[in-house]
Amino acid sequence: MKATLDELLCSVELLEGDTAILDVINKHIFDQTQAQKSAFFVADLGAIVWQQIRWKTHMDQVRPFYDVKCNSSAVVVEILAALGTGFVCSSKHELELIKNFGVPAQDVILGGACKQLSLIKYAAKHGVQLLVCDNEAEMRKIARCHPNAKLLLQVYTAGCCEHDETAMPFGCTLKDCRHLLECAKELGLTVTGVKFHIPSCCAEPEAFTHAVSDARCVFDMGAELGYAMSILDVGGGFDGVEAQLEKVNRVLKPMLDAYFPQSTGVSVIAEPGAYYVSAAFSLAVSVISKKMATQNGNNHAQDTLSGIDEPEFTYCLNDGVFGSFAYKLLEESVPVPSLLKETSAEEPLFSSSLWGSSNDGLDQVLESCLIPELSVGDWLVFNHVGANSLRVMGEPTPLVHYIISAQDWYEIQNYGVILDTALKNFCLVPCFQKPSLSESAISTPA
Ligand SMILES: *Cc1c(COP(=O)(O)O)cnc(C)c1O
Repeated sequence: MKATLDELLCSVELLEGDTAILDVINKHIFDQTQAQKSAFFVADLGAIVWQQIRWKTHMDQVRPFYDVKCNSSAVVVEILAALGTGFVCSSKHELELIKNFGVPAQDVILGGACKQLSLIKYAAKHGVQLLVCDNEAEMRKIARCHPNAKLLLQVYTAGCCEHDETAMPFGCTLKDCRHLLECAKELGLTVTGVKFHIPSCCAEPEAFTHAVSDARCVFDMGAELGYAMSILDVGGGFDGVEAQLEKVNRVLKPMLDAYFPQSTGVSVIAEPGAYYVSAAFSLAVSVISKKMATQNGNNHAQDTLSGIDEPEFTYCLNDGVFGSFAYKLLEESVPVPSLLKETSAEEPLFSSSLWGSSNDGLDQVLESCLIPELSVGDWLVFNHVGANSLRVMGEPTPLVHYIISAQDWYEIQNYGVILDTALKNFCLVPCFQKPSLSESAISTPA
């Protein structure tokens, strides 16, 4: 599928003055007719650019390759391409997408532990040489279809996320590495580096200590077999919070200086995904139905004793786990939403659960949160939902409205980021004016 220029042309609203994201959300809700009322995203492009500026500030020695699977919006890809990041793709669709933005093939990694032959062939045809590999079967496929590939051996990081039974042990052990290096040698393949990945759930910075020293072992094993490896890929797992980036860097930097000093000529790269997009996206959803139950069910005796009969609410939303909340299936937590309508501080809070509209037991967005009572038609806003929320799982993904504040637009220029020349497929639309209260009251549809 080749996107046409029209599809890629995207309007970005420039927000002047003190217009906030919530004003934009209100405007779009207001614009929707009563019948439509669809969920939608608002994406703040300034937030993505600031993440790049923060990365440069704290991790300048590590070149980021954005993991496209995290959020493959064309606008996100175009901005990051303009900012000069590399990309990690794991499907043909993702490779085609970044090709549309003229990203050079040497700035692309074909990730994913298991790749279909056709995908490997596609990468070979388009000159994408960096391929991640962690097993012999995969290596044999690559040797057959892409003999000029440059492999990044994905090494399993021991001791990481042992508490998480759902963590998939991608990557090979150090022992497997020797075998894989020998196998590559026999197949005439080039091994160009080592990759590890420490998920953000692994809060122990020590995991990086182990991973970097393990990587050094693999570089040394490779050297014994005549491989001059030149890339160390420290993976993703950066949640986007600046403090976490600093914390990782405090552990990573001395390890890199000790094991991979600049004199070795090794390029250090990373594969951040969530880091760039998480905070930039907010999702607005509306309540489409509502049920009330009392907390203690039929247990009247207890109710009378405690003197309370707290109602509990179950709300059904116009988006769910089979839509924009699919990341919940990745064991990621859904943030507590904020309420769009004004509520007073005295308003009582009720235990509430939020569901998608599929009637499926898996479609529970939030098991329990304490919020004021909602009515059908009320809107909720989930912030920090840019990662893994725009995947298609049967339902069409909600519309995304892109914005950037005038302040960000000008401030980022001080950092050498000039978006209007770098972004060919953007059209910046005249600033969105915060509507005055009287104006919106007059034109409210009956
Ligand atoms: C998804 C993924 C990443 C990016 O992860 P984030 O947590 O979004 O940074 C990096 N490496 C691998 C192997 C992945 O699967």
